[in-house]
Order: sequence, then structure tokens, then C-alpha cells
Amino acid sequence: MRQVIERPFSQRYRDNWTQTGENPIIMLQGVSKSYRDCVAVDHLDLDVREGEILGIIGHNGAGKTTILKMITGLISPTEGSIEIMGMDITREGTRIKSFIGYLPEESPFYENMTVTEYLLFFSELYRIPRSVARDRIHRLLGVLNLAEENKLTGELSKGMKRKAAIARTLLHNPGLLILDEPNSGLDPLTSFFIIDYLRALRDEGKTILLSAHNLFHIEYICDRVAILKNGRLVVVDSMESLRQRLGEREYEITFKTADDLPYEKRGDNYIFKSADVGQIASLLRQVSDKGWALVDLSIRQSALEDIYVKLMNGTELAAPDSV
Ligand code: ATP
Repeated sequence: MRQVIERPFSQRYRDNWTQTGENPIIMLQGVSKSYRDCVAVDHLDLDVREGEILGIIGHNGAGKTTILKMITGLISPTEGSIEIMGMDITREGTRIKSFIGYLPEESPFYENMTVTEYLLFFSELYRIPRSVARDRIHRLLGVLNLAEENKLTGELSKGMKRKAAIARTLLHNPGLLILDEPNSGLDPLTSFFIIDYLRALRDEGKTILLSAHNLFHIEYICDRVAILKNGRLVVVDSMESLRQRLGEREYEITFKTADDLPYEKRGDNYIFKSADVGQIASLLRQVSDKGWALVDLSIRQSALEDIYVKLMNGTELAAPDSV
């Protein structure tokens, strides 16, 4: 069920709010960040829409963490503007921050506190009443499958620490989550558990912006994907549209007949693969006319990984309206 999430809207934002589901919660316009000898982020325009999961991917040093830090107000852009629900993060950051849950790439812990003490400590910082905090912590640790509430944080495994950090990020029930590599360093099952949990949070109504290196995870949970290269946005689009613009789609027919045919054989079956829908339709007609047995018709689509590799190697994208 979608939660009603209280948002600290600016009046201007409230006035422009629509029911289309494309309302940008975060809006970056012409954002750059330079350090002394490097341009980490270069003229970035990007929006994150209400209720979506947007994933940022890119090589090491592409600028992902820098973007997330600027959005949370931890560092300021050298150029450009960042608005969250119509409010400028550099001017109205204090008001906006209660709406944001930020998970940095690495979270320091107070190692002599137990998990519960640590989360209660942060609840106090968020001014959450103690009884509400206790209930919330109990529930969060339950859904995150973290039974070590009485263990010292210094004694937690890496996966347990990541879960405790995620619980901390969610304590104040933020509507917007900014997560820097939420599953870095985790084993595949714990990683997948967390990714699945993020999907559930999105389904509850939260908006999520995350960075990750695991492209399967990104493809699995993200509504849209932003690909960065050397601080520049190469593309931002849905997986469906990226596949149309850059991916490949191949159809595979598996059928059976006693006739001798010039097709690849797998066991008793013939296999025919093609990206050409016309060829596929023509063979299907033949299968039907000749009374051969159709075993399977499947589609293989490009994974995000294929698309990412192509873009990193400089393949040009077709414009969305030319496909
Ligand atoms: P990774 O995938 O390795 O975490 P990233 O995409 O998150 O990388 P950033 O951490 O945003 O990349 O770094 C982008 C660029 O900015 C890099 O060239 C990095 O060296 C540089 N950079 C980041 N922080 C600083 C800093 N405090 N001072 C100087 N340069 C910095």
C-alpha cells in the first residue's frame, strides 16, 4: 500500500503539482562540480520523479558520489542549481533534509554501542519520541532480517553493518532516499534481499535515487537509468527505451519435425534465431502449414550490461523518436 508521505513542498511546487506521476522531486540544472585539478561533474541536467527508482551507473570516478553528495547538500556545486521539491538545497537545506534519507558509501559506527542504542541515538537526533523510535527500530530490524539488535555495532559483519546503516537511513520515515551503493561489499543473497526491499519501499511510495555497480540489480529495480561517463550524463532513460535505442532483440523459435531441414539442431528440436520479425513470422507460418510441432517462441533482449558496454565504447544512441 502506498504511504501518504508528508512533503515539505514549496508553494510554487505545490501549485505545479500534477497527477501524471512525472513530478520531479529532484531537479538538477546545469550542475557542475570542480575540484582543484578535476571536473568531477560537468553540466548535468537530471530530474528524479516522484515514486521512481532512478539508478546512476558509471565507471569508478565517473562522478556518482559527487552528485549524490551535492543533492544531499553535503557539498555545494561549483555551478548550476539543485532543487528538491522546488526548494534550493543550498538555501533551504535544513527544511528539506528531514525529508531525505541518505546512505553514504561508507557509514562510520559508534562501535561501543549496540545496534539498538545506535539507532535510538539517531532517533533522538531526529527528535523521534522514544516509544515511537523503539517500535520503528523493532519493525525495521524485523523487515531487514537483522536479529543482532543487542550486538555491539563494532562486532557486526559487513552485511549486518550495511543493514544497520539502512535502518538508520529509514528511521525518520523519509520520502526520498539517496543511496550510495547500498549493496556494496555484500554477498549475492544479502545484496538481492536489500534490492528487493528497496523495491518494496518504492511500492510504498518512496522516491529512490541510488548508485550501483551491479548492473543486474540496477536493471531489476530501476524505473530509469542514468549513465555517466567522465562526469557527463551520456543518457537517462527507461530500460525499455534504452533497449529500443541501443539494444538488440532476438527471437528464437524451437520446433520439431521429422523432415530434414537446414536449421541448427538441439536434441530432437530445430532452433531458429533472428532479429527480423518478418523471418520469424514466415517460419511460424511454415510450422503451422506443415503441421510441425512448435515447442517454444522466446525473445532475448539486451541486458543493461550490453547497452552500458556499447555506450562506454562510444556507440551513438538513436534519438528516442527515431526508433
Ligand atoms: P566510484 O565508483 O569509484 O565510487 P564515483 O563515480 O562515485 O566513483 P566520485 O567519487 O564522484 O566518483 O569522484 C569523481 C571524481 O572527483 C574523481 O576523479 C575523484 O577523484 C574526484 N574527487 C572526488 N572527491 C574529491 C575531493 N574531495 N577532492 C578532489 N577530487 C575529488
